[in-house]
Amino acid sequence: MIKTVSYIFPIYNESENIDLLYKTMNDLLRQHAAEYLYELIFVNDGSTDDSLQKLLSLEKQDDRITVINFARNFGHQLAVTAGLDFAKGDAVIIMDSDMQDPPRVSFELLDKWKEGYDVVYAQRRTRKDTFFKRVTADIFYRVLQKLSDIDIPRNTGDFRLVDRKVVTALSAFREHNRFLRGLVSYVGFKQIAVEFDRDERNAGASGYPLHKMIKFALDGILSFSWTPLKLISRMGFGLAALSFVGICYAVGVKLMNPAVAVPGWTFTVIAILLIGGLQLNMLGVLASYVGRIYTEAQNRPLYIIESITTKDRQKLPFSIITAKQSHAAITEQ
Ligand code: UDP
Ligand code: MG
Repeated sequence: MIKTVSYIFPIYNESENIDLLYKTMNDLLRQHAAEYLYELIFVNDGSTDDSLQKLLSLEKQDDRITVINFARNFGHQLAVTAGLDFAKGDAVIIMDSDMQDPPRVSFELLDKWKEGYDVVYAQRRTRKDTFFKRVTADIFYRVLQKLSDIDIPRNTGDFRLVDRKVVTALSAFREHNRFLRGLVSYVGFKQIAVEFDRDERNAGASGYPLHKMIKFALDGILSFSWTPLKLISRMGFGLAALSFVGICYAVGVKLMNPAVAVPGWTFTVIAILLIGGLQLNMLGVLASYVGRIYTEAQNRPLYIIESITTKDRQKLPFSIITAKQSHAAITEQ
């Protein structure tokens, strides 16, 4: 039986890119029409421009398209999660919608899938991002590699193909502060990389300003590593050892050379500031984990869908949603 491939496109203010993306995809899919059936899922993640209107008009012309419209901006990772929840394909391809992940590369991913791999991730050989983005991304991947308990491949984004098996496995992970590429590494299966050169963003601005990047980086580290917590006790031991040295010194001076003047303010004040600062930092580390525990304890839906379009309403996965303990709340369009 001919297999189905689902593409997931998260959309946040991509109005200027949607037409080019669709045209490119459409041409490519026509060339490969004989091999698979295709499904294109666009998840509108609370765009403030006319992305939604553009998507809905494409949806009217093309039976392969489904548009999931979020009630607000929930973030890229949750947009992709919704796509994964609703995708019906035997293989699912996750791609950015700004043409940074070249659509033609997705067929190289499909070739590897045909060879029997379950996860085919596209690894950046080069990337045409700003100097700042390249440097911060590089530092992030190095730190993550050092700290995290699982092997998350470097220089990979979410551009990847996952087999149905992996989608099913991933659907059991309902954590809120998601770092999908880490989860994909975590679930295992047969994984392989395909190298590619990442293009520039076609038009519009990045939806990942610095604060989102920092949150994302923290999600990556904190959801896959205990190291920052372990660091706290190591730091404590280090400081205890230091203070022991200090005590020995003070006692020594008192015994050997009592004539030396009482040490001045400076040392005391610096010590207080240092210890105080460290304690606050360490509390911050604890807070990062506690905050995440709080979010998980609330267990709110991961995302809220305002409307969804789909051709075969029979297959609208309400059952999936109930099966997932209503992690997604939904109202039909
Ligand atoms: N995106 C999203 N929600 C957001 C931010 C981004 O769905 O809150 C989408 C965006 O439309 C794009 C992809 O995620 O398809 C990657 O975002 P972007 O290109 O802005 O990130 P960058 O490439 O700058 O890291
Ligand atoms: Mg981009």
